[in-house]
This record gives sequence, structure tokens and C-alpha cells, in this order.
Amino acid sequence: MSTKASTSSTPSSAPVAHKAPLPPSSNRSSRIAPHSHIKGLGLNSEGRAITDTAAGGFVGQENAREACGIIVDLVKSRRFSGRALLLVGAPGTGKTALALAVSHELGSKVPFCPMVGSEVYSTEVKKTEVLAESFRRAIGLRIKETKEVYEGEVTEMTPSESENPLSGYGKTISHVVVGLKSVKGTKQLRLDPSIYEAMLKEKIVVGDVIYIEHSGAVKRVGRSDAYASSYDLESETYVPLPKGDVHKRKELVQDVTLGDLDAANARPQGGQDIMSVMGSLVKSGRTEVTEKLRKEVNKVVKGYVDQGVAEVVPGVVFIDEVHMLDIECFTYLNALLESPMAPTVILATNRGNALVRGTQDLIAPHGIPADLLDRCMIVKTEPYAKEQVAKVLQLRANIEGLKLAEGVLDKLATEGEKSSLRYALQLLAPASIIASINDRSEISLEDVGEMNELFLDAKTSAAMIGASENLKT
Ligand code: ATP
Repeated sequence: MSTKASTSSTPSSAPVAHKAPLPPSSNRSSRIAPHSHIKGLGLNSEGRAITDTAAGGFVGQENAREACGIIVDLVKSRRFSGRALLLVGAPGTGKTALALAVSHELGSKVPFCPMVGSEVYSTEVKKTEVLAESFRRAIGLRIKETKEVYEGEVTEMTPSESENPLSGYGKTISHVVVGLKSVKGTKQLRLDPSIYEAMLKEKIVVGDVIYIEHSGAVKRVGRSDAYASSYDLESETYVPLPKGDVHKRKELVQDVTLGDLDAANARPQGGQDIMSVMGSLVKSGRTEVTEKLRKEVNKVVKGYVDQGVAEVVPGVVFIDEVHMLDIECFTYLNALLESPMAPTVILATNRGNALVRGTQDLIAPHGIPADLLDRCMIVKTEPYAKEQVAKVLQLRANIEGLKLAEGVLDKLATEGEKSSLRYALQLLAPASIIASINDRSEISLEDVGEMNELFLDAKTSAAMIGASENLKT
């Protein structure tokens, strides 16, 4: 019988142990879901936008994509610090998609933290705190652990189920370490031999990863002698027996963000998470992330980086509708941009000249004060032609597994050109619901027609309200 063995950790102590999963990096993944077709900027090796296919999931926006490609190069060569990218364009012209593509181009595990300017206004949290948190969530930390792992193809798992791997060791066994497989890997249990034997009878443990402590050494016995090796407690190394070399030192990686670490430390009883990652940093009773706490986290992170256990991965913070920030936020943003651990900052707006919020009468381009604007490289996004809308719609329909009957794409693209790409995209999901209510797997022209009766695009809706207001006066 040939069974694929799962990767399992050994009882050796690793420099950094992760006993409990960290909290999710953020609850912002729903904001990224509509962009799941975006994989990158779709540029060739010379930095030119590939146009014949929807490279990187992108359709059109060649100039903006190429400009963003240059920003990626600047970031990679560390020549973009203290600056920000400002994307300017009408709603639904791909500003968020471009920001996400930039983060993909910077690396596969680079954190992307999107927020909307208006999010800073909350009754509970200070505006600057909201900004600071987003910045921290955009800085990743890759924690590396080197572990002895068991790897390999089990080709000789033939001994009978009833065989007791402890037989022959008598009373010298003080405990048994059993590797129980789960989807997350192999968890180790230290068991009293009698409990182990009872479990074995009940066939609760049938794993191939079994260690026993025997005469001062830990020995791997398992189901097949072919994979036995012994563990030397003194040198903390495995000595593979001649029959098989299946232990390897392997680098295991966990990605977290500084925001995750702050939050884990701030929870009153959240010690187990952060303790497992960052040692004894937790002070019980904390409920909020303070600047002091962030400094403590930074200190521990720095220690781990210096030891080579962790690596800082600067990501991307994306602030959409940046004109919604006020002067206090803009001042703080300037300071954040200067900080040594700043992520790449991408801002977006659809405003022209606008009042800088929080000032009496300061009108500035895009509602952004001149000192921040000075630090920005500005890139413009263009409105879409009908065939570009159709291509994006088809990409989304493919990714969502939606079938479109003949003529539907053209109809939706016409709607998109008339109102916006976003509106046309938003019609896809409800149209598919109507199709499935009518027992069809394909969205038909009638479904789209029904959508148009039920929902209004922004321009039609505004025009109608305008007309009724006029009627009243
Ligand atoms: P807003 O200003 O309202 O935030 P936006 O400019 O950020 O809008 P997006 O949210 O990026 O626009 O775009 C709307 C939808 O269209 C998203 O699903 C996005 O992935 C998709 N999209 C936009 N432009 C393109 C493009 N050029 N190629 C492929 N998909 C695109």
C-alpha cells in the first residue's frame, strides 16, 4: 500500500512556536472579492501594457498600468519612501483594481489594506488611530521557523492494525508522543503509555508518526520500521536509521501583520496568540492599542528580525475617497509617510478642486492640502468604452461561473457605457438570482430587462428625483 505521509513536526523545540492561529489579518477581504480577477498590472518585460489579452485580469487603462509599473519599480528599488501614489478618475474606472494590482506586483504575500476616507469618522476611535491601524495592517511580518519535519512517501505501511509499536520496550517507556494528523498538519500529543494502548485498541490512533521516550532518548517507531529514526536529546538532532532518511529541516513560514500583533496584544486575555508568536509581551487587562503598545510590539519585532527569525514585508495601504479625510488626518498622513516602517501608500479620489475638510475655505486640487499633494505622483484613470466594459463583464462572469445567453453581454455593456462599469457589474449577481428562480442556469435578456425595471442606475435615479423635486416647486 502506498500512502502519502503528511508533513509533521517533530518534538524538537523551535525558536518560535505557534500554538494558536492568529486572528485574521483583517475583515477587508470582502472589499477585495470583486477584484479577484485582478492578478497584476499585465505588463511585459519592458513595462508596456499587454493589450491583446486581458493580462493580469486588466482591460484597457494602458497608461495608468504602465505608470503604476514604474511606481512598483521605484518601491522595489526603495526610491519611493516618503511619497504616495494618487489615482484620480471617475468612479468604477479601476482605481482600487490598480492599487490591488500594485500590491500583487510587489509580491505574492504582500499585505493589501484598503480603506475609505470616511472610515476615520467614528465616535469611538480617534481619526488618527484609524489611519495608524490601517498602516500597521499594511505591514507584514513573515515569521520563519526551522523545524524537523517528517516527509516522504510511506510505501511499506503493512503491519497489521493490531500490532502495538510499543511492544518490546516494556516499562522503560515513560510517555508516548503521537502525531495526530489534521488538515492543519500534525498535532503532537504526549500520552501515558496505557492511554496510548487503550487508544490503539479502539483504533483511535493509527498514525504512522509515533515517538516513544525510551532509556533517555526519544525514539520514533511508527507503523513501519522503514521510517524509524532516533532522536538524540543531547544534540537535539535526529539520527535517521539506515533504512530511510525521511527527516528534513524545513522552513515553515507564517504571515501576520503588525496590526494583527497589536490587536492580539491588546485583547485582555489574548495572551495565547501573541505569546506564541512574540514571547511574553502581553500585559493583562489591555483593551486598546496604544502608541506604547505599538512601540513594544516594534521592539519585539525588531529583535526577531535581528535574530533572522522574522522578516518585515511592507505592503500597500489604499485610501479610497481620500478627499473625505480632514486637515488633521492629512497632517498625520504626512507624518506616517515619513515613518521608517511605512507601507506603500496609494490614495484615490474622483474630485477635482474641492474644499479641504476641516478648514474654513481652503480649496485645493482633489481636496488634498498642497504639502501632501507635493509628495504624490498622480496617475489618471480613463472612462471605459463599451467593448472594454463587455470584456470586464465577461471576465467577472467567468470567475463567478455565470453563463450569459446571446445578447446579454452586449445589453449589459450598453448599460455600463450609459451609467458605469460598476453598475453593469452589479447587475450580474441579481440577474443570476432571477435566472435561478426561473430554473435557468443561464442569464437571459429578459433577466437583464427585469433588472432594469427593478433597479435604477445613478444617473437615471438622480434625473427622476430632480424631476419630481421640480414638480413640487
Ligand atoms: P470608486 O472610485 O467608486 O472606488 P474605482 O475606480 O476604485 O471606483 P474599481 O472598484 O477598481 O473602481 O472598479 C470597479 C470594478 O470593475 C471592480 O470589480 C474592478 O475589479 C473592475 N475593473 C475596473 N477597471 C477594470 C479594468 N481595467 N480591467 C478589469 N477590471 C476592472
